[in-house]
Amino acid sequence: MYSVFTRCRLTLLLLCGFFFLSTHAFAGEKVLDVTRLGHEAVSLTDHFAVFEDPSAALSRSDVSSPEFAQRFTANQKPGQALGFSYTRSAIWLRLHLKNPGDKPVELVLDIAYALLAKVDFYQPTDQGYQHIEAGYTRPTPAQALASRFIALRIVLPAGADQQVYLRAETPNSLNVPASLWTSEAFHAHQPADYAVQALYFGIVLAIGFYNLMLYFALRDLSYLLYVVFASGVALALANFTGMGAEFVWGVAPVWSKIGVNVPAALASVAMLLFTRRMLTTEQLVPRIDQWIKLFIAANAASFFLLIFWFQEFNPFFVTMNLVTSLLILATGVICARQRQRSAYFFVAAFSVLFLANALTHLRNLGILPTNVFTSDGMQIGSALEMLLLSLALADRFNKMRRERMDAQTQALRIQGELLEKLKASEQLLEARVADRTAQLQLVNQQLEALSTTDALTGLANRRHFDTVLANEWARASRLGQPLALGLLDVDWFKPYNDHYGHQAGDDCLRQVARVLSGSISRSGDLVARYGGEEFVFIALATDLASATTMAHRVCESLRCAGLPHALSEFACVTASIGVASCMPGQGNSAEALLRAADRALYSAKRQGRNRVVSEPAV
Ligand code: GH3
Ligand code: MG
Ligand code: MG
Repeated sequence: MYSVFTRCRLTLLLLCGFFFLSTHAFAGEKVLDVTRLGHEAVSLTDHFAVFEDPSAALSRSDVSSPEFAQRFTANQKPGQALGFSYTRSAIWLRLHLKNPGDKPVELVLDIAYALLAKVDFYQPTDQGYQHIEAGYTRPTPAQALASRFIALRIVLPAGADQQVYLRAETPNSLNVPASLWTSEAFHAHQPADYAVQALYFGIVLAIGFYNLMLYFALRDLSYLLYVVFASGVALALANFTGMGAEFVWGVAPVWSKIGVNVPAALASVAMLLFTRRMLTTEQLVPRIDQWIKLFIAANAASFFLLIFWFQEFNPFFVTMNLVTSLLILATGVICARQRQRSAYFFVAAFSVLFLANALTHLRNLGILPTNVFTSDGMQIGSALEMLLLSLALADRFNKMRRERMDAQTQALRIQGELLEKLKASEQLLEARVADRTAQLQLVNQQLEALSTTDALTGLANRRHFDTVLANEWARASRLGQPLALGLLDVDWFKPYNDHYGHQAGDDCLRQVARVLSGSISRSGDLVARYGGEEFVFIALATDLASATTMAHRVCESLRCAGLPHALSEFACVTASIGVASCMPGQGNSAEALLRAADRALYSAKRQGRNRVVSEPAV
């Protein structure tokens, strides 16, 4: 009894076991009741059981055979996507779907990732498994809905309880962000999704064209580098978001494969060159500049390496790309600390990008909820980054303009100052010239006066006397008037000098001169110092008698002056005068007149001095 019971129980257990294995064959694997789907998508990540096929050679029938069926792993962590990074394996995903309702349910299997080369979907039907082929290397299948990613229309019949399979394989990073929608919910969700994309690409196109125009207008290479950078990023994102394939290039397997990272490499080269120019790293941070140059070379090399050895080189490039971004951010921070103006924009731009990146990753890890900031963060971040960098360019333009204006103002100011200085120095020069001219005129006058005046007595000098005598002689001759001459010599003047000193002698000569010019004051007459202690006067239109009277007046005046002379027999300073007069004309001369006066003087001396002797000139 016991044994029968035991046997029955064992059989039951075994049967139960088999039953369990066949229906709930895979413990822990979630069953998705499709009638429960609402307006939101249900992420399939934690509903999938996963099996990695390193050979990538197994078929659907292989993996659903008991041998491989056991190897699927359930209980995936919840999240937006299953990620396998870079792998050559094929990834098999098994999903348990159930429709307890009495109507078939139309569903959309959405894989929101454009870089899957091959995706195979298997669903059991009455006629065996239905197989749908999708992925960027394949033509769009009939079941695909219009979508930038992979969206397959599947129908789960009433009462169905089935296991569907997904197989994915790609040379790109292998991610499967799969979700299930009801058909209505999917269609309702699409426009908002496209609006965000359109907004992003619209912004990038506008900024790109604007800066391209600026490049043509200003011919500043920074603008062109920025345009190359923006184009690279836009191309990469067009590929990454599936927008490019859906609207521009369609099925293009090779381009879809390399179309994210090759433009990204180009964008990195452009951005590094842009950074060097904008932040003037060569002058500001020479050591970092060396690193930037190295990364420019590495990214440029990646551009070609990715084209020819994509699968081998891609993982390395992704890491390098991250380091490149960090390098630019670090350069920005260091330059900002050195108060480089453009650097503030760089730090802001790249911080935004990093923040966006972080938000996206945190969403993918299930830490942050899905919203527009976390799901389209990259686009928002990239758009903000581009806006901020183009602000940096605008700022640079502004700065250049300001500097040019400053330089102009300064040049004008300097020019004005120079002009002022020039005017001032011109005025100074003019004033000096006027001053010197006046001085010169004064000196000339003085010189002129000096040349006709005797320095000691202030009377006309011998030179002037000669000139006047010649002129008056000619005039008298012309007018037929007589001309008289008186030659005066101070008596015993040598003894006077010896007795009173030379200084007193000079004073005495000045006194004699004063007496003489006081006595001979008729206009036109001239009194001059003839030399030493001798004086002379010219009397115009004067005959000998009048001239003699004049001479007597002089002698008298001198005596009256009473200048003491201890060694003179008259006890005062006296003078002897020789007078001569003649009618200038043929047969006589001024020299003869002078000689006659000299003879008369000699005779006055001989007769005892202090007297006048006259002699007519022949
Ligand atoms: P006489 O009565 O014969 O004219 O005798 P004298 O001493 O006046 O004649 P002499 O020609 O021998 O002397 C003239 C003197 O006049 C000699 C000289 O020392 C003096 N003498 C000439 N020129 C100047 C002068 O500029 N200043 C002074 N202090 N003495 C002068
Ligand atoms: Mg004399
Ligand atoms: Mg004398």
